[in-house]
Amino acid sequence: MPKDTPYLRFQRNLRATMDVLKLSKPECELLNQPQRIHQKDISVTMDDGKRATFPAYRVQFNNARGPYKGGIRYHPLADEDEVKALAALMAIKTAVVGIPMGGAKGGIAFDPKKVSKKEIQAISRAYARAFSAYLGADIDIPAPDVNTNPGIMAWMRDEYEKVTGTYAPAMITGKPIGYGGSQGRDTATARGAFFLLEELVEGEALDPEHLRVVIQGFGNAGSNMAHFLHDAGFTVVAVSDSQGGIYSPEGVDPVRIEKYKKRTGSVTGEYCEGSVCDIGKMKMDGVRHVSNEELLELPCDILIPAALDTVITNKNAAKIKARYILELANGPTTPEADAILRKRRVKVIPDVLANAGGVTVSYFEWVQGRSGEQWTAERVDRELRRVMLTAYKDVRREVHRGKVTFRQAAFIVGVRRIVEAMRVRGWV
Ligand code: NAD
Repeated sequence: MPKDTPYLRFQRNLRATMDVLKLSKPECELLNQPQRIHQKDISVTMDDGKRATFPAYRVQFNNARGPYKGGIRYHPLADEDEVKALAALMAIKTAVVGIPMGGAKGGIAFDPKKVSKKEIQAISRAYARAFSAYLGADIDIPAPDVNTNPGIMAWMRDEYEKVTGTYAPAMITGKPIGYGGSQGRDTATARGAFFLLEELVEGEALDPEHLRVVIQGFGNAGSNMAHFLHDAGFTVVAVSDSQGGIYSPEGVDPVRIEKYKKRTGSVTGEYCEGSVCDIGKMKMDGVRHVSNEELLELPCDILIPAALDTVITNKNAAKIKARYILELANGPTTPEADAILRKRRVKVIPDVLANAGGVTVSYFEWVQGRSGEQWTAERVDRELRRVMLTAYKDVRREVHRGKVTFRQAAFIVGVRRIVEAMRVRGWV
C-alpha cells in the first residue's frame, strides 16, 4: 500500500469529487497533477562566511481560472509532496470563494528559528531570484504562509523588482501596509472564518454565549480568531502553541495570553517555564496545562485547529467532543478521520472554505496593487464578508443538494468551477 502523504490524501478527496461530477478522462488527468513543479537548490552565504544550500519549491497547480496564487512556507519538513498538496488546495480554495485566481504554493526546507534575521533575508532574496522567471502579477503571485511574514514579502518584492527591472507591487501579497500591503490582510484568515462561524451559529439557532471553543495554535490565524470570538461573547476555553496549552472550563482571556506569549514566547508563559508549571497559581486561576493531543479531545462545542496538518486522525476522531470543527489550518483532518466524524455527525467546515479569508484579502491587495487604489479597512471587511458568505451559501446549497459533507460539497463547488474554466478555454 502506498505511504499516506498529504498529496495522496488530496487525491483521495479529488477522486471522490471527480466521480460525483462524472468528469472525462482528460479532465481527471489534468486535475490529478500540478501543471508545473519547480525545484531549485538555493545557495546563500551564512553569517559565518560559509555557503549553505536549501531545497526550494514552487508548485503551480492550476491556472485555468487566473494566475497562480499561494503562499511560501519556511519549514524544515517542507518537501515536494507537501507543497504539491498545498498548491492543489489553493486551486480549490480560490475557486470555492470565486476569485479569479488559480492555485500554487512554495516552500523552502530549513528551520527559520535556527538562522539569523540577516540569513533569512538572504534566503528570501535568493528564493525570489531563483524563481523570478515563474512569478509575476499576471503569472504567479506568492504570499506569506507558515513562518513567513510581511517583512519577507517586502524583501521578495524588492529583489524581484531589481532582477526584472520593473515596478511590481502586485507580484506578491501580504506586504507591509507602507509597501503595497492591504488593510486587513494580517487578520483576514481569522476574520473570514469568524464571518462563517457567525453565519453557522445563526443558522443553527445557537447562542455564542453558550458556545465553548478550543483553538490549537496561537499564531496569526489562531490568536486573531481567539480575539474575534472572545469579543463576540464566545467562551474560548483552551488555546495552545507548540509548547502545549492552557484550559479553563470558565474561559481563558486571549488578551492576557497574548501579553504573556509576547513576554515569554509561550501561551502557557503566565504559569509555566518550559515543562515546569506553577500548579498553585494555576489552581487559583482555575486553569490547567494540557498537551496538544489532550487539547483536541477537551469538552467543547467548536474545535478550531489553527496550527498543523494531520492532527485529527483515525486515532482521535472518535474521542473529539466538539460538534463543529472549523479548519483554520490547512489539511488538519485525514480522510479516515473525516469518515468517523461524519458518522458521528460532527460538522467539519473544511480548510478550503474556512481559511479562505487570507487568500481573499490577498486578492483585494492584488487588485489594489494593479489599480493603484487604496481601500479602507471598512471596505476590505465588507467585501471579505460578502465573498465568504457567498461561498458559504454556495457550499451549503451543495451539502443539501447532494447530501454530502461540507468538505465534499466545497470540493464539488471548487472542482466544478475549475473544470468549467478548462472547458471554456478548450483545454479539455
Ligand atoms: P503561524 O506560524 O503564525 O502560527 C502557527 C502556530 O501554531 C504557532 O502558535 C505555533 O506555536 C503553533 N504550533 C506549531 N507547532 C505546533 C504543535 N505541534 N502543536 C500546536 N501548535 C503548534 O502560522 P499561521 O499563519 O497562523 O498558520 C497556521 C495554519 O493556518 C497553517 O496550517 C496555515 O497553512 C494555515 N493558514 C494560515 C493562513 C494565514 O493567512 N495566516 C491562511 C490560510 C491558512
